[in-house]
Amino acid sequence: MQRTLFIPAMLLVCVGGSDARAASGPSPEVVAAQLRDAAIAGHDIAYSWVSDLTTHIGPRPAGSASEHQAADWAAARLKALGFENVHIESFPMTAWVRGTESAQLIAPSQQPLVIAALGGSPPTPAAGLEGDVVIFPTLRDLKAAAPGSLNGKIAMVAQRMVRTQEGAGYSAAVPGRTDGPNEAAQRGAIAYLLRSVGTDNHRQAHTGTARYVDGRVAVPAFALSAPDADQIERIAALGQTVRVRLFSGASYVRDAHSQNVIAEVRGRDRPQEVVLLGAHLDSWDQGTGAIDDGAGTAIVTAAAKLIRDLPHRPRRTVRVVLFGSEEVAQPTPPGHGFGGHSYADNHRAELPNHVLAGESDLGTDRVYSFALPSRVAESEFAKTLLRILTPIGVLASDRPPEDVGADVTPTVEAGVPGFGLNQDATTYFDIHHTPDDTLDKVDRVQLDQNVAAWAALVWLAADSDIDFRPRPAAGSATAPPAKP
Ligand SMILES: [Zn+2]
Repeated sequence: MQRTLFIPAMLLVCVGGSDARAASGPSPEVVAAQLRDAAIAGHDIAYSWVSDLTTHIGPRPAGSASEHQAADWAAARLKALGFENVHIESFPMTAWVRGTESAQLIAPSQQPLVIAALGGSPPTPAAGLEGDVVIFPTLRDLKAAAPGSLNGKIAMVAQRMVRTQEGAGYSAAVPGRTDGPNEAAQRGAIAYLLRSVGTDNHRQAHTGTARYVDGRVAVPAFALSAPDADQIERIAALGQTVRVRLFSGASYVRDAHSQNVIAEVRGRDRPQEVVLLGAHLDSWDQGTGAIDDGAGTAIVTAAAKLIRDLPHRPRRTVRVVLFGSEEVAQPTPPGHGFGGHSYADNHRAELPNHVLAGESDLGTDRVYSFALPSRVAESEFAKTLLRILTPIGVLASDRPPEDVGADVTPTVEAGVPGFGLNQDATTYFDIHHTPDDTLDKVDRVQLDQNVAAWAALVWLAADSDIDFRPRPAAGSATAPPAKP
């Protein structure tokens, strides 16, 4: 369903301003505190959501029957929870399917290697392929190699991901995964190996998507577990030639589709104005997608459910969007779907009425700070939110939201203000995109702390008439402040 209601400009009114209901009921701040406390008390909506999703359905690769099943399950559950306008919006895509896969060191000695094919990467020949490994410390070193210098070789980037609280180490390392295969192919390589983009040292590989160039990933590409990458580097450091054999039976489904699941709590005064809460329903194939991103779908759904169950609806509409096909998102289709683009395209006409958007997609560890659009960073809204969230360990970030989330990025790029509830990602990348992403990693107490923060922030935004967009006349208002 699409609506085409459109108001060209929203007025800026301070929180706590002319709210007729304020005289007859508790203030928005009191309600926000009640929501926070209800979440912290443990209402079980979030945990039962992620438990049921990962137990009944399990992995949900983009475009798969399991992802469709998860969307149907989510829509039915959202209806049962009392949400309005629950519906599914489908879009076409090419699905990638992992086949059997294996890797061995064959010289100077025979040893098994633990690998995972990167999403989107083509199969090897049926007999597999063999080649000598050329190791590059970083992607930049690979890019510096001359054309033709890797003819017949297997390129390997050995860059280590740095463990950080906010997850910046991931952004620094991930180009090795997205861009490495094509860079290797351009120099003649027949395959690509990558030290897993992850922070653990377990014998498991972290998959993830590789970027399509000219509609495809150029060569078979694999992540190595960190101990296997160490092993190859040690052997090479002895001056010996490392030779490996690789096999992947990956395949594609060209006429697949994925879908976004949408549900609402309709606003009582300004239902056309939307506060968007996003997370993604698809997952990688080897775990059950508990922390990435079953937990995020649970957090935003539970937060919206707490708001839905209030005696008074918020003034604006709260919209939950459970995106499909996030993990294999390609910046440039053709024919390769991405729920974030599909949503922004389908709802283009109403994006001017989207007042704020955020996404939960960094696991279940606790929220430690909130980041608001620059326009309201020093406002009464921010001060109220800080009073509500400080007791559960959440501070105000000194920076505006940076990476709001892949799914809502097309919406934010269309001019919708984004917010962030920054989670502690210190251990997230030990598990991210591995077979170890399973329900036992979800901490109920921290999950509920996330729900509390989301419910309070979203309620305060939805029950206000604040304009979060940058001031039209002050272009500098959108520029992030310099780092201290
Ligand atoms: Zn994710």
